[in-house]
Amino acid sequence: MLMKTTPERLAGADGSNSGSDGGPDVPVALVIGSGFGGLGAAIRLAAKGYKVTVLEKLDAPGGRAYVHHRDGYTFDAGPTIITVPYLFEELWALAGRKMSDDITLKHLDPFYRIHFDDGDHFNYSGDPDRQRAEVRRISPSDAPGYERFMKEADYCYELGFKALGDKAFDSIADLIQASPAILKMRGWRSLHQMVAAHLKHPKLRMAMSLQSLLIGGNPFSVTCIYSLINALERKWGVHWAMGGTGALVQGLVSLLQGLGGQLQVNSEVKRIEVESGHAIGVTLADGRFMPADLVVSNADTAWTYRNLVDAQHRKHWTDRRIEGGRYSMSLFVWYFGTNKRFEDIPHHMMVLGPRYEGLLKDIFKHHKLSKDFSLYLHRPTATDPGMAPQGHDTYYVLAPVPHLDSGTDWAAHAEPFRQAVQARLEATVMPGLGQHLTTSFVTTPQDFHDRLLSFKGAAFGLEPLLLQSAWFRPHNRSEDVAGLYMVGASTHPGAGVPGVLMSARALDSVVPVAAEWASRKKA
Ligand SMILES: Cc1cc2nc3c(=O)[nH]c(=O)nc-3n(C[C@H](O)[C@H](O)[C@H](O)COP(=O)(O)OP(=O)(O)OC[C@H]3O[C@@H](n4cnc5c(N)ncnc54)[C@H](O)[C@@H]3O)c2cc1C
Repeated sequence: MLMKTTPERLAGADGSNSGSDGGPDVPVALVIGSGFGGLGAAIRLAAKGYKVTVLEKLDAPGGRAYVHHRDGYTFDAGPTIITVPYLFEELWALAGRKMSDDITLKHLDPFYRIHFDDGDHFNYSGDPDRQRAEVRRISPSDAPGYERFMKEADYCYELGFKALGDKAFDSIADLIQASPAILKMRGWRSLHQMVAAHLKHPKLRMAMSLQSLLIGGNPFSVTCIYSLINALERKWGVHWAMGGTGALVQGLVSLLQGLGGQLQVNSEVKRIEVESGHAIGVTLADGRFMPADLVVSNADTAWTYRNLVDAQHRKHWTDRRIEGGRYSMSLFVWYFGTNKRFEDIPHHMMVLGPRYEGLLKDIFKHHKLSKDFSLYLHRPTATDPGMAPQGHDTYYVLAPVPHLDSGTDWAAHAEPFRQAVQARLEATVMPGLGQHLTTSFVTTPQDFHDRLLSFKGAAFGLEPLLLQSAWFRPHNRSEDVAGLYMVGASTHPGAGVPGVLMSARALDSVVPVAAEWASRKKA
């Protein structure tokens, strides 16, 4: 059984940096942020022998995977679609433990249902035969094209995920080495272009391209390399961690503690201190300085460079470069409970609106809040009734919306927008919803900015465009400051739980074991 991770238990009573006491020669690593990337990095560094402390601004770990407990309902704030479980299993193994002793993963079948605006749907599953049958039901003539698409997606998975996903693009030589693979995948095409080359039916084009939205990418502009998501889901399945995604967060925290590391919540880092080009520690919001041999930021990279590292230390990540980047969409998320169970709603459901390309253009290009929207509806109680009081359901529904460049005053717009989302659900898949609502609260792009400190309130960091990927993305080892490292959604390889866990792997490949760091320091 895992220990319950309460803020009181996690924070040192005196707020001190008192992780594993490895003696004066053990190098100290500070990790800013306890998202999946930060926790993955902390576990890897602790396993390498560093004395690790994770500093988290919020009152509990998880970042986008924070857990809200309200009125008997458990709301996972963010990630719900869990795939590539071996990336978690690896962390358990590094801590000398077995994931299955702590976490029960349930395979979901189908993965999700895509509900189209005309009332038709596509049950998206990992079973090749059933998936083929769904494709044929919608468009028999697209069956051969679907096979070709999946073959190409598998190829992108092999090259883009397996070969390059955890490579720290540290130098131009790494980019040159990776270029043949990028050329072979014809990575300059957009995902939608690739899908459209194989499939004719508009519904199938949507069903096979919308996956990039799960990592903040517009299918019409992200590189087709992200078709790897379709292949990756088929290969590894879509899972649910019983108890919610928060169970995975708690599990990782307990691994870190088992390795002698520590998590300090309510500890916002205000500045990364740099001396002679080296990170020497951090200053917290309360003014305390914490010395370190190396600092890893799991905070948004744009925010880290723009707000935590003094401009005089940033030759590469200048304010101008940061502001010139293109940032992913944001999200409006409505969390709610119902006093009845809507048994027809599956665990994961996309409720698409009347427009696809036009809506995405409004969000990503024009930064305009549209009146129509497409929704992702999450009903964990379909699999895990314990997430709500007996006989009730727990939900969240999210709508991709523009980041803060839209100029939307969310304090004024949140409630009308929530009402529009409710009306849409009532008119489509949840008739009578309003009569059964119990608890209800929302997260807006402003919250991504104010609470999670995300530049422009983007939900997924930098947009995963070809020229903002791999070597072009903020490096895992800082270009500007020695001893400073980046993990998480806006460094390489990018957003999504598998992506940020891979970023921790990339970090692992560029940081030596603690003993070597210590002897280099002495030399
Ligand atoms: C609503 C939603 C649904 C999603 N669904 C899925 C999904 O189903 N599957 C999937 O794979 N991905 C999903 N994603 C994406 C995925 O959740 C993220 O890409 C991933 O969790 C981000 O992890 P991270 O390591 O970048 O850290 P984050 O989760 O971004 O955490 C960063 C942490 O750093 C802390 N921090 C920031 N600045 C400071 C500071 N100065 N001092 C101290 N602490 C600081 C923050 O408080 C935060 O806790 C979803 C995202 C959202 C928002």
